[in-house]
Amino acid sequence: MGERKRISILGATGSVGQSTLDLIERNRTAYEIVALTAYRDVEGLAKAAIAYGAKHAAIGDAERADALASALSETGITTAAGPEAICEAAAMEADWIMAAIVGCAGLKPVMAAVEQGSTVVLANKEPLVSAGDVVLAAAKIHGATILPADSEHNAIFQCFDFERPEGIRRIVLTASGGPFLDRSIEEMRAMTPDQAVAHPNWSMGAKISVDSATLMNKGLELIEADRLFPIAADRIEIIVHRQSVVHSMVEYADGSILAQLGPPDMRTPIAHTLAWPDRMETPMPSLDFAAISRLDFEEPDPVRFPALRLARQSLDRGGAKPAILNAANEEAVAAFLDKRIGFLDIAAIVEDMLDRYDPPAPGSLDDVFAIDTETRMRTRQMMTTKAA
Ligand code: NAD
Ligand code: MG
Repeated sequence: MGERKRISILGATGSVGQSTLDLIERNRTAYEIVALTAYRDVEGLAKAAIAYGAKHAAIGDAERADALASALSETGITTAAGPEAICEAAAMEADWIMAAIVGCAGLKPVMAAVEQGSTVVLANKEPLVSAGDVVLAAAKIHGATILPADSEHNAIFQCFDFERPEGIRRIVLTASGGPFLDRSIEEMRAMTPDQAVAHPNWSMGAKISVDSATLMNKGLELIEADRLFPIAADRIEIIVHRQSVVHSMVEYADGSILAQLGPPDMRTPIAHTLAWPDRMETPMPSLDFAAISRLDFEEPDPVRFPALRLARQSLDRGGAKPAILNAANEEAVAAFLDKRIGFLDIAAIVEDMLDRYDPPAPGSLDDVFAIDTETRMRTRQMMTTKAA
């Protein structure tokens, strides 16, 4: 038997974290779990740590330190709590680290994982949007390999000729269109969190599900693609593809288009990164093309989905704009999930913040955090003033 791959999962209790554990479950002897982390779900974290024989478990909420310690007492699994503990878990030596925390809360842990210098798999896209340059520069300095787990970016990664990027004409990012693709703007106005979170093709965490309904997810992915692939931003296009079978495409100068296809299940892109550069078996059945029967493509509607325009503008304007876009969106989505604002307010609030707040371009990670914090404060303030 070869060496066991040492694995850590940041955000182990979430949708991507659980999909990752599911793959590991199927070939337990090949892996050794170093650290698992979660934010508040002590029970889920302890259960996974015990089931997978993790060495260490860290919970983000400092107040749950005792709960985690007692859940794992006499297991030999070490525990820690608080935001710093998540970074320390991320910094533990491992061969492969899944970054699956949601939002910019994952930025410091991603940096810690990258600085540790092994393979860091990014499902957590928000850090790339807000601080892509800093994250990628750190990866270079520390010799870390970044692999994208986001299905579209994983698809592009599989089709993109990094040795000859000049031969590439464009990237086509596909979007499922989310649950409101066929809804009128009037219907969208009244949509509830439950309706927004019920995605037709993918089962995901609440925040990304709402982002999929506004198409902000595709906007964030546009910026994510810009960070990950050496191609001009105006050569990255977005097309709605409702079946979520073609996960994205790369077009070459001669007109050839390479696409990656697969079932809409995160276990396929995660497995690609887990085995990379080899391939591994997954439980996914082969695609049944006759049953799928057709693949549809259509232009996204800019009127009902303004988030796409906001993301494109943020990318073009650069500087602090992507970080503002992301932070305002995180706050607005949280308020929507909390039923404090309506569905259409999400993009309107983000647009307002992008218009009103114009700090200088961040030059460091601290600058990014300052912009992130300030944007969140202003967004919350704006929402309470509006609601009053
Ligand atoms: P989720 O909400 O299901 O899980 C999030 C995980 O992060 C949980 O383990 C949670 O405990 C942890 N977490 C949340 N806030 C934290 C904090 N402040 N500190 C530390 N840990 C915290 O989310 P998800 O759907 O698994 O998505 C995770 C990331 O992957 C997101 O960035 C999302 O955009 C991206 N992504 C998800 C999918 C998907 O299918 N779910 C697909 C592509 C990309
Ligand atoms: Mg995606």
